Amino acid sequence: MGQISLEGMKFYAYHGVYEEEQIIGNYYTVDVFIESNFSRAANTDDVFDTINYETVYLICQAEMRKPVKLIETLIDNIISALKHQFSTLQSVNVRIQKSNPIPGAQVSHSAVESDESYVSKCPRCNSSFICYKDGACWCNDVKIHPKTRESIKHEFRGCLCKNCLSFYAG
Ligand SMILES: [Zn+2]
Ligand SMILES: [Zn+2]
Repeated sequence: MGQISLEGMKFYAYHGVYEEEQIIGNYYTVDVFIESNFSRAANTDDVFDTINYETVYLICQAEMRKPVKLIETLIDNIISALKHQFSTLQSVNVRIQKSNPIPGAQVSHSAVESDESYVSKCPRCNSSFICYKDGACWCNDVKIHPKTRESIKHEFRGCLCKNCLSFYAG
């Protein structure tokens, strides 16, 4: 396990609920902290994805270019893009600061931060594994009959590790 961070990424973007912000724009600072197993993880055997700074930066840049009203939405979009890109995230922390958040007032910045962790315990074999608990998860790519998948969900009330899932794959 290890952590990488990309801190102080600066963007000029047009997010916000005020019309001025959508036209004039604001400066934003984005910090991203990622925990991952940087060696090839047992449960992601066939998906060897290195987490590199440039890709993380490009993901943030792409999301910053799509205007939204709330920073919370922006953070959600960045996190879900990171999850789609990388399958070995153990946790993600994204913090966004917005300069001059209130038009006409002297406020240096506002900040919103979100922290997500994806390490679960497999209910079948008790080993630790990564599950994103949504459509971005690797487990959706394991070829399992929909009926079998339903009964796994019913029996174990959640996702299984890769080893256990491949037991049911056909
Ligand atoms: Zn298992
Ligand atoms: Zn999953």
